[in-house]
Amino acid sequence: MLSGKVSERKLKEIEEIAAGWGKLAAKNVFPTGPGLDVTLVEMEEVANRAARAIVRGAVETMTCEQAKQFGEELPCPICERMCAVKRKFRPMTVRGGEATLDEPVAHCPACRRDFFPSASGVET
Ligand SMILES: [Zn+2]
Repeated sequence: MLSGKVSERKLKEIEEIAAGWGKLAAKNVFPTGPGLDVTLVEMEEVANRAARAIVRGAVETMTCEQAKQFGEELPCPICERMCAVKRKFRPMTVRGGEATLDEPVAHCPACRRDFFPSASGVET
């Protein structure tokens, strides 16, 4: 899916960093180590909450950075009139968690239509 956009080496590096964050989360939740009454399911719950927060932070940051690249005006895909681009925040379930996506949206007053510029092209 990332096909050439991010190297395997970079992904391994990110996994190592994230594993370190997992260790920090464990130490933060149980500074002296988990008691013998803490089950594996409960440990997984802590890890899962942390993983979902990483997904949220990463996806929200990347969609925000993409949204900034569209600029302040874009041509309407129908009449080509330049239209102001606004940002719309949309909560969404993504693989591994929930995130609020930062999406650019433009409205053409002439065509009375919204259009959504995205990395995959313009959608009306
Ligand atoms: Zn238009």
